[in-house]
Amino acid sequence: MSALALRAAETEQVAPRTATVIETPTARIARLNALYRQASPREIVAAAYAEFGEGLAIVSSFGAEAAVTLHVTASVSRDIPVIFLETGMHFAQTLDYRDELTAFLGLRELRNIRPDAGDLAAQDPKNGLWRSNTDACCAIRKTAPLERALTGVTAWITGRKRFHGGERLALAPFEWDGERYKVNPLANMGRAAVEDYFATHQLPRSPLVEMGYASIGCWPCTKPADGDDIRGGRWSGSGKTECGIHHRRPDWTSLTGSEL
Ligand code: SF4
Repeated sequence: MSALALRAAETEQVAPRTATVIETPTARIARLNALYRQASPREIVAAAYAEFGEGLAIVSSFGAEAAVTLHVTASVSRDIPVIFLETGMHFAQTLDYRDELTAFLGLRELRNIRPDAGDLAAQDPKNGLWRSNTDACCAIRKTAPLERALTGVTAWITGRKRFHGGERLALAPFEWDGERYKVNPLANMGRAAVEDYFATHQLPRSPLVEMGYASIGCWPCTKPADGDDIRGGRWSGSGKTECGIHHRRPDWTSLTGSEL
């Protein structure tokens, strides 16, 4: 691992503890957002690790900006599980980048989560479902596998940021999705801050970024960015903007607005 990957001042590993305080989820995220709404990404992840202990995981696409979230997480603990949805439809460059970043950051618990073989055989035996029904394709290749992978997980770290727009404009550091907590350490980060973080820590970039991709998912549903619309290359022209893993359940709660 490069000495620059995790600088000395940022490598103090954080020990988890199991919280025993009885609180409703809404009260819990209200407390956490009040405490950490102005905090740095690392402070947010450290707080989450102290709060949720071994129930904390990170879900990463190893996309254009994933190195920042992964670096922040690894600076707290390299043992936090990293869940990667191996849809079977990624660019080869993404799989290579996953392996490169995992080694660079010294991640100890990478979990490659694949779709259920029975689901693929029944619904997408020729890997062409994305052509006719992207929601169904995302359901069997992303949403259902993630649900299985999150068994036993209390809270998961995402790489979402407000500047990506859409539903993300009102993102808080801590959310309750009706079943689990979500931790968004980069919620407050702007585009320039993300670029600064890459430069400061000399993080490797996905080779797809140099090819013009600003947000990276499966190859059939990802095009290079068009102007400043970072997520505009995802499911371009279809009206679809999210794969479903961030679907808001009925009792989803994100204290934003005046609470922030
Ligand atoms: S992003 Fe496209 S290829 Fe990937 S799971 Fe969704 S519809 Fe299928």
